[in-house]
Amino acid sequence: MPREAVTVAKFGGSSLSEPVRFQKALDVVRADERRRFVVVSAPGKRDAGDRKVTDMLYACYEAAQNANEAEFTGLFEKIKERFETIRRALCPGLDLTEDYETIKVSFRRRMGRDYAASRGEYLNGKLAAACLGYAFVDPADCVFFKDDGAFDAERTNEALHTRLSAEERAVIPGFYGSMPNDTIRTFTRGGSDVTGAIVARAVDALLYENWTDVDGFLMADPHIVRDPKLISTITYHELRELSYMGATVLHEDAVLPVRMAGIPILIKNTEHPEAPGTMILPRREGSEGCVITGIAGRKGFSALTVEKDMMNGELGFVRRILEVFEEYGINFEHMPTGIDGVTLVAPTEQLSGKRTAVLAAICRAAKPESVEIRDGLALIAVVGSGMGRDLPALSKVFEALAGAGIPVLLTNRSMAENNVIVGVDTARFEEAIRAIYAIFEK
Ligand code: ASP
Repeated sequence: MPREAVTVAKFGGSSLSEPVRFQKALDVVRADERRRFVVVSAPGKRDAGDRKVTDMLYACYEAAQNANEAEFTGLFEKIKERFETIRRALCPGLDLTEDYETIKVSFRRRMGRDYAASRGEYLNGKLAAACLGYAFVDPADCVFFKDDGAFDAERTNEALHTRLSAEERAVIPGFYGSMPNDTIRTFTRGGSDVTGAIVARAVDALLYENWTDVDGFLMADPHIVRDPKLISTITYHELRELSYMGATVLHEDAVLPVRMAGIPILIKNTEHPEAPGTMILPRREGSEGCVITGIAGRKGFSALTVEKDMMNGELGFVRRILEVFEEYGINFEHMPTGIDGVTLVAPTEQLSGKRTAVLAAICRAAKPESVEIRDGLALIAVVGSGMGRDLPALSKVFEALAGAGIPVLLTNRSMAENNVIVGVDTARFEEAIRAIYAIFEK
């Protein structure tokens, strides 16, 4: 399969939630003949008050498990109607009666919660394949999980590659595959993104398009910053840094398969196909000067600061503290150090119920002069190529915070990363993000 010829287009649930939107997705596929492999989610919400079909399927399966016949039948009919509305409008020639029957019987036979959830993608895949005249490829036959439930990347890649080499054009439902004992298993929620990525890798696509309901990644959270600019290009690494801080558009596990294969991901909006979207690239070509890619942050951190004179000369001091964290199951996320002190930043919730014991254990293990916990910390990551090394960019971050009168409680910057992390009081979090955004927008 020549690489230039293939684009994998994955459509999210909101792009396939009702006939008008579904039609737009079909138009997108038909507009470019390189879109030979299409991955679909289950129908999502049609408006803010609506329910995703996947959530309805979970509820319906629960009703079947509880032998609540009235609720089961009622919900099953509602789910069926979601698909029938699309079928009647877009491919009336397709008959799904047998599929509905099989699914209903399988729910009653308790075929499993994952099987139940997967039927949203399965039925939407059948609809899309019929509308487009593409082959329908069931991932139950070529996406595999291992006995322990982990995704089997290599076996899947081989099987998918072989299966899809036999098809000129195909629709593959997202979100699920099968276990070694042939039962259905799903990825975690939002997992159709992962299927899209593994299909892109298997066919050695030139591009993995991820069609959703936003124009792309924004430079900052629009709930905090008014009309933030769209990010036009971002590297996989920068994306990981932003999503670690809570900015999400794409399932985290969707990055690895395409990153391994060096395939770029293009985030596009099905409602505005003409908009350029956000391109996620393996690496950035050239330098764009003093720019940042994005700003993201999270609240809910605590900083545990341990001080001891001559700490720098005491072998194993930090290890002893980290051993206490490990013993109590606390995951430290950052660790800025000073000359006679070290701060460990961890999610506040992980300290819950253990504070006194942890403090006492640190005192015993490290015999410090003082140890204290400060709650109410918010972390902000400013991400961009060269951010870690670019002096003007770095100084702008501090200039912005100083200008807004926001004290910087801690900073963290490794030489390896394209980001700087600053810690501020939770009460100043939004203000800090706005100030940093504003200074880079100038
Ligand atoms: N339909 C599944 C969910 O709602 C998977 C997906 O949409 O990616 O999580």
